[in-house]
Amino acid sequence: MTQFSREFTMTIAGQSAPVEATYPIHNPATCEIIAWAPRANERQLNQAIAAARSTCSTWGRSPLEQRSAALHDIADVLAQNIADFAELLTLEQGKPRYAAEAEILASITWCREIAKQSLPQELVVDTAERRVVTHFSPLGVVGAIVPWNFPMSLAIWKIAPAVMTGNCIVVKPSPFTPLCALKLADLCRECLPPGVFSVVTGGDELGKWMTLHPGIDKIAFTGSTETGKDVMRSAAGTLKRLTLELGGNDPAIVLPDVDPRAIAPQLFWAAFRNNAQYCNATKRLYVHEQIYDEVLRELVDYTLTVKVGDGADPDTQLGPLQNEPQYRKVIQYIDDCIRNGYRFAVGGTIDRRRRGWFIPVTLVDNPPETSRIVAEEPFGPILPVLKWSDEEDVIARANDSPFGLGASVWGHDLAAVQRIGARLDAGTVWLNEVHQYSPHQAFGGHKQSGIGCENSLHGLMEYTNWTTITLNRKVAFGRRSTDGIA
Ligand code: NAD
Repeated sequence: MTQFSREFTMTIAGQSAPVEATYPIHNPATCEIIAWAPRANERQLNQAIAAARSTCSTWGRSPLEQRSAALHDIADVLAQNIADFAELLTLEQGKPRYAAEAEILASITWCREIAKQSLPQELVVDTAERRVVTHFSPLGVVGAIVPWNFPMSLAIWKIAPAVMTGNCIVVKPSPFTPLCALKLADLCRECLPPGVFSVVTGGDELGKWMTLHPGIDKIAFTGSTETGKDVMRSAAGTLKRLTLELGGNDPAIVLPDVDPRAIAPQLFWAAFRNNAQYCNATKRLYVHEQIYDEVLRELVDYTLTVKVGDGADPDTQLGPLQNEPQYRKVIQYIDDCIRNGYRFAVGGTIDRRRRGWFIPVTLVDNPPETSRIVAEEPFGPILPVLKWSDEEDVIARANDSPFGLGASVWGHDLAAVQRIGARLDAGTVWLNEVHQYSPHQAFGGHKQSGIGCENSLHGLMEYTNWTTITLNRKVAFGRRSTDGIA
């Protein structure tokens, strides 16, 4: 059991906020209640935003070194508590311990690397006549809205650049997975001036209040495309800045020259890491017809070796679905396949007597391109495996989606891999690898997968206003005589 206490309070204005209402948080592996999270009301959200507003002008002018040091302090808090954070993450999210630990370690790396980033002013013109300089200043108050699939790292992807650019941030975790963020803010109360980093928790309505709130200058949002559209609508009233990281339906294209057995584990994890509750999970697997049968067979064999269970069990490789609505949503996709007579190569049968929100890994054998399982984002462990034979055709099918988040191509013919990759319409295209991210690499979606990006200096810039200052050195108007002025 984690050494963290099971008391969870929100951090508002650098202090523990009184708990006025609570709601239950479940362990997805057992459905048991593991904690009660605070449910913020509008007054408490207003307090968090007011504290952020009153601090943001001084914090925004603080030296870069101070902000960088604050990020290292947050990283230190995580580093001193890796095991406890990982245990808590498994408990609330369901992911296996090794994956939870990897998420905490990545969060530490992100804080330390973004602490090195800065946006130097841009000298555009510097002549005897004129000087033109563009510089970047903080926006003020950022509202961060986070989903439940990577509760810690997707919060850090917003906290680190916001803090580094001199903004104050109010974080709202997913209602399903608020505990790690609550604990992080609690342990960071000494790291930052009061009001710079607050965490408020509650239901979806809290996100809506944030997007409508006139005291918030920017919303950094990760979640579904449908909610992203609603965020955009609500933010329009105050013309907030927006970064939207939304849903995906990533294709993977496999060329005929790969060894089916050797590639099967990589393709499996490309699709099923985090139990496929992953924006960048491979959600459509296009395999060349020459090797289709063999790849499918190898994938089935590999699937049968993967241990699905409670993430707290050290042998577990895949955990449960994170929450009941998601569990029910994925079942609908399975039912839709059954109704339409699509063949399952493996999986498809749910043990409804089993405790926890478990769904077996399910591979659907070559369903039609127009089927729901191909066209939509199930966000769970069910993958359509599809045949292709013609390069132009597979590129067109891969791009025929309202989403454009990620894509991958796999093959030995590097010319073909690069030729196909260059034509895929996605924010990240991985060639012979997948899911490689970096704090220095821009990440975002094309089409309805998002607006703007996170990470890299491009992501950092999204937390700033730019101001261009032009100076005419040859003053073209007369000087008033100051003779005789005391
Ligand atoms: P979701 O859209 O249901 O919720 C995301 C967050 O928005 C939660 O904190 C929720 O409380 C809040 N929210 C809900 N309604 C709101 C509203 N009307 N106004 C403001 N906030 C509101 O998404 P989810 O189910 O938590 O996450 C899964 C989705 O997120 C998938 O579609 C996945 O692809 C996407 N995702 C995208 C990325 C990316 O980087 N592009 C990363 C992870 C997940």
